[in-house]
Amino acid sequence: MRVSRRRGAIVVAQTGFEAVAIKRLQQAGHRITVPRVQVARILSRADRPLTAYGVHQEIVANGGRADVVTVYRVLGTLVELGLVHHIGVVDGYMACSLNESHEEDTEHVVCTSCGRVTELPLPHEVAERTAAQLNELGYSHAQTRVEILAVCPACAVE
Ligand SMILES: [Zn+2]
Ligand SMILES: [Zn+2]
Repeated sequence: MRVSRRRGAIVVAQTGFEAVAIKRLQQAGHRITVPRVQVARILSRADRPLTAYGVHQEIVANGGRADVVTVYRVLGTLVELGLVHHIGVVDGYMACSLNESHEEDTEHVVCTSCGRVTELPLPHEVAERTAAQLNELGYSHAQTRVEILAVCPACAVE
């Protein structure tokens, strides 16, 4: 697929997160714009969470043009669709590594040394106990976000 812009065109990847993200954006009724493709592409290549400014810098470094406000807006849309997660402890955005929208809650393990993040399914026991706790307190449960700080195996060796 080609997305036209004033000068030239951008070709959307056929596989990987970029392709999945573009497909889901379309299914949700969003237009496929150059900034959306660019943000999805940067996140699909990143090996750790990037801040909105980091995403913007990467777009510019790759010869693209998008302002930071647009990048924020695109990231917001991708987060809403569950394609991208915002990792609070590092204020970074990462592509969902499950590559599909997931009904199940996940947890993010953040390496305190290298900043890489591993996404894991949240154990059922945790989800159940949390739901019970909130129920008892009268909270209506919107979503669960679990961030765990740890040292990854690669960093532990060093
Ligand atoms: Zn995910
Ligand atoms: Zn590490």
